[in-house]
Amino acid sequence: MNEYDSNRIYDLTSIIGYSKTHIKKEADCFVLNTCHIRKKATEKVYDEIGRVKKDFKNLKKPLVVVSGCVAQAESEEMIKREPYIDMVIGPQSYHKIGDLILNYERKKEKINETKFDVVGKFDELKKISNSQNKISSYLTIQEGCDKFCHFCVVPYTRGPEYSRPFEQIIDEAQNLVSNGAREIILLGQNVNAYNYNKKYRLSSLIRTLNNIKNLKRIRFTTSHPKDMTEDLIDCYKDCEKLMPLLHLPIQSGSNKILKSMNRKHNREYYMSVIEKLNKVNKNTKISSDFIVGYPGETDEDFEDTMELVKKVGFVNSYSFIFSPRPGTPSATKKLNNLVESKIRLKKLQNKLENFQHRNNKEYLQQHCEVLIENKLDNQEEYFGRTRYMTPVIFKANNCKVGELANIKITSFNQKNLFGIYETNKVKAA
Ligand code: SF4
Repeated sequence: MNEYDSNRIYDLTSIIGYSKTHIKKEADCFVLNTCHIRKKATEKVYDEIGRVKKDFKNLKKPLVVVSGCVAQAESEEMIKREPYIDMVIGPQSYHKIGDLILNYERKKEKINETKFDVVGKFDELKKISNSQNKISSYLTIQEGCDKFCHFCVVPYTRGPEYSRPFEQIIDEAQNLVSNGAREIILLGQNVNAYNYNKKYRLSSLIRTLNNIKNLKRIRFTTSHPKDMTEDLIDCYKDCEKLMPLLHLPIQSGSNKILKSMNRKHNREYYMSVIEKLNKVNKNTKISSDFIVGYPGETDEDFEDTMELVKKVGFVNSYSFIFSPRPGTPSATKKLNNLVESKIRLKKLQNKLENFQHRNNKEYLQQHCEVLIENKLDNQEEYFGRTRYMTPVIFKANNCKVGELANIKITSFNQKNLFGIYETNKVKAA
């Protein structure tokens, strides 16, 4: 979502005359669009500002703006801790960035703008066309979350659930496709909770996008198991542009831990969603997120997670050790032993890597459908992704970025597949 927001921030600042520079020391303004999901991310912001400070030691100080969820969570504290920061803007206020910069230029007074004004934000954004022109483009449809998982900052930094107007999203999708997008990734902190006027659900969006000419692939992220409704599952049956990889975070395989996390689902419910998906489309695969070492996690709880992982056989998944976020209920709980958590994480990651390895090996000497996203800097190879998001690097003399290609896979490593472009006639795999 930060990539989407950064792009929109650029669209907004270009209206008041700013343009991007790749030469750092030429910049008049830095916007650091931040993430607050892990503790490290917050410290990285201060490190980055330290680097800007150093680079501009003997030059005119640039305007320094911190936007995003760290700005929301830390608010004025940021300006106090690091006076080099001139402006702090929350993720639901960034549509005001143009006026705020102009104000700052006039008055030279520090600005802290962290109101939740998500309706105003999207009303403002709809007036400015999205200049993103990547083959695979993000499109925010929903923001915020009402689930309040005990480890998560999103309900506090992005605010309550808000669904953008249906027509506004379709207009933006059509604009992205006219700009060259061939894949659209619908975004939301709780994307499958999308519900506009109790009439339009995520399934309505997918079915409408499925009819957009020249759009080849649709994905969405991130989903909550509780919101995997029947109408959404049914899209996997007959929307041919909807890719068969579903990112469905479970966080833990232990019902005790899921309850303590306030996840509002248990492992049986999660498994029932996967069963339903497999019933409507046997090609679906699942990726997930896992938190290891959540307060109170015992060996037995961790083994429940390992057992669930074996059962589902996840691909392309993410796993982390629990990181307490200030202000969340779980931040007050007694931390697990870090050494133990590290051992568990390693064990889980080895298992997930084995599945990934097995998954990648299945492609060997096979042809698979790849959406070509760009040509690599070496000018000889191209980059694209399979229907399951696995990166593919391949050699080709003559192929077009944006086309669906038929790639013969000749080798692989843990993360990537490598192959040769044979023809643009696609056989789905
Ligand atoms: S559902 Fe997702 S975004 Fe919402 S509180 Fe839980 S982890 Fe955070």
